[in-house]
Amino acid sequence: MNFHVMTLFPELIEEATNTSILKRAVSNGIISVHAVNIRDYTDNKHGRVDDYTYGGGAGMLMQAQPIYDCYLAVVKSIMQSKGIDGDVEEYIRDHRPITIYMTPQALVFTQSMAVGLSNEEDIIFLCGHYEGVDERVLEEIVTDNISIGDYVLTGGELPALVCMDAISRLVPGVLGNEESYQTESFDDGLLEYPQYSRPEEWHGKRVPDILLSGHHANVEKWRHEESLKRTMERRPDLYEAYKNNACV
Ligand code: SAH
Repeated sequence: MNFHVMTLFPELIEEATNTSILKRAVSNGIISVHAVNIRDYTDNKHGRVDDYTYGGGAGMLMQAQPIYDCYLAVVKSIMQSKGIDGDVEEYIRDHRPITIYMTPQALVFTQSMAVGLSNEEDIIFLCGHYEGVDERVLEEIVTDNISIGDYVLTGGELPALVCMDAISRLVPGVLGNEESYQTESFDDGLLEYPQYSRPEEWHGKRVPDILLSGHHANVEKWRHEESLKRTMERRPDLYEAYKNNACV
């Protein structure tokens, strides 16, 4: 899995992916992260990448030209990594590389979107800043819009990192056995059951006896019931959807 992130703040992407599980996946060659600075592609001799919005209104907008040229360079690098020669714009027309604009104006990212994207070889992210991005370049390059929630952030870097993190951990080999993703919240439409580790008693609270019983079927039954209960309490919306899909 190769992530290509178009951003004005590449150091944010690099620092966050240079830690813990993602760092290990990068050094094992399972994923790669290329943070590309949009500013490197501006034609403006003062290095500007933003300007006022037509029609008035506060704030600056990221301009089309630097983003488009950055995008062409990113796609060219993808072509090179695949050993493909030829015209970039023709390749783009034929292949429509997955290019995700992080924006609050989209459906909110879910685990099933992460699962779908984890099968891709290359994903390009565009991180906006300021007031956002000139609509015309979005029309030309974006294949998918993704929001991480109904609130407005200062930039698309944290949202892109959220997506990259959720996608990466689904790529085979990224998680070790001890970090298994086999039973996880959302996998079956339910939240995960509560979990406990040593010691058996802490602050006067005992681990539920059933988990110490060694009786596998009973443990599974208890976990499923706890999942149902927790989902009903914390995410009634998910519980309703689960009930409608599976007979509870
Ligand atoms: N004026 C825009 C918001 C701009 S916020 C609007 O009203 O829709 C600046 C940038 O931050 C955006 O271009 C986007 O890339 C990113 N961003 C902000 N909130 C986000 C969210 N909830 N999900 C994904 N990206 C977001």
